[in-house]
Amino acid sequence: MTLQDQVAIVTGASRGIGRAIALRLAQEGAKVACVATTLDGASATAEAIRDAGGAAEPFACDVSDGHQVDTLFADVVEKLGGCAILVNNAGVTRDTLILRMSEDDWDRVLSVNLKGAFLTIRAASKLMMRARYGRIVNISSIIGIGGGSGQANYAAAKAGLIGLTKTVAKEFGSRNITCNAVAPGFIETDMTADLPTEFRDYVVKNAPAGRLGSPDDVASAVAYLASPGSAYVTGQVLVVDGGLTM
Ligand code: NAD
Repeated sequence: MTLQDQVAIVTGASRGIGRAIALRLAQEGAKVACVATTLDGASATAEAIRDAGGAAEPFACDVSDGHQVDTLFADVVEKLGGCAILVNNAGVTRDTLILRMSEDDWDRVLSVNLKGAFLTIRAASKLMMRARYGRIVNISSIIGIGGGSGQANYAAAKAGLIGLTKTVAKEFGSRNITCNAVAPGFIETDMTADLPTEFRDYVVKNAPAGRLGSPDDVASAVAYLASPGSAYVTGQVLVVDGGLTM
């Protein structure tokens, strides 16, 4: 197990990709802080980890709120003892064309997907700098690289995460802290459950892998970037899209 006893914080861990990441890091030996907006959601994942023989604690936190994020980190340190791995996975969409997009739609998506990552990275940086070790993984999206009609807010947030990732890599690199982004393509989760059939068919036809992705496909990429063995990989964007956008 490559992550034996390391503390990993995973945001948005109640379902979908975040849940798969939390389960995977726990399988690798990490003690996982499962973070979600509600304690019920976080607890379900933490229980699944414990049932499988792993170590996990649930935490409720809205990552867009700086006060809640600082409290989260204090609680994690108290209960689990530190933070070697941070995975910024929490995300929301409020898709609509720019013409119809409200300021609130813009602000909420930027607050959760981008500001949330800044707030957790700022809180984690103190612990990681002191420990002279850290692995930060931000979940971006292929939409942050190529844009997406009806997703101006989401695309801007996910592109912003890439700039944030590269900056963190530069600022923290000398302390043995890496920061990378994973950019998933179309992954089967609640977030993509309402995609029209034609769209699914497009992905199946055009991605060399011939299918949509699974949360486990993303978790595997995260597990690598969260491991000690990825020490010389930083500031990168690892696209996990079955080859769709190459
Ligand atoms: P999902 O909607 O199934 O899960 C999102 C998670 O984020 C949930 O656990 C939710 O509780 C949590 N969350 C939402 N707002 C939060 C907040 N303010 N504070 C803390 N947690 C919050 O989504 P998913 O498909 O599993 O996506 C996970 C991440 O992957 C997101 O960042 C998403 O943008 C990204 N992504 C998903 C896909 C895809 O195809 N599903 C593709 C590319 C990127």
